[in-house]
Amino acid sequence: MAKKGQTYFCEICKQKVVVEEEGFGVLVCCGKEMSLVGVKGMMATWTTAVHKPDGGAIFVCNVCKQKIRVVVESTGKLECCGQKMQRVEERIS
Ligand SMILES: [Zn+2]
Ligand SMILES: [Zn+2]
Repeated sequence: MAKKGQTYFCEICKQKVVVEEEGFGVLVCCGKEMSLVGVKGMMATWTTAVHKPDGGAIFVCNVCKQKIRVVVESTGKLECCGQKMQRVEERIS
């Protein structure tokens, strides 16, 4: 299960997301489970380097309410709980 603050990426299209709100669903992209980016090693460094604190599209799952922020966007389709995740507009005040 995804935990808040964790980063997941798709091995096929390289899309990368950060978990904003936890849900019980499994994150899927390109029809494949997304991989958890570890907190140690090269991957973590890479994640920090490309992290954009000011933005990224937000997607939510209507089933488990999992919320993610896309930090590296691709054409891959994000899914959770067996259905497409919903893109939401975020207002930054
Ligand atoms: Zn879900
Ligand atoms: Zn993908």
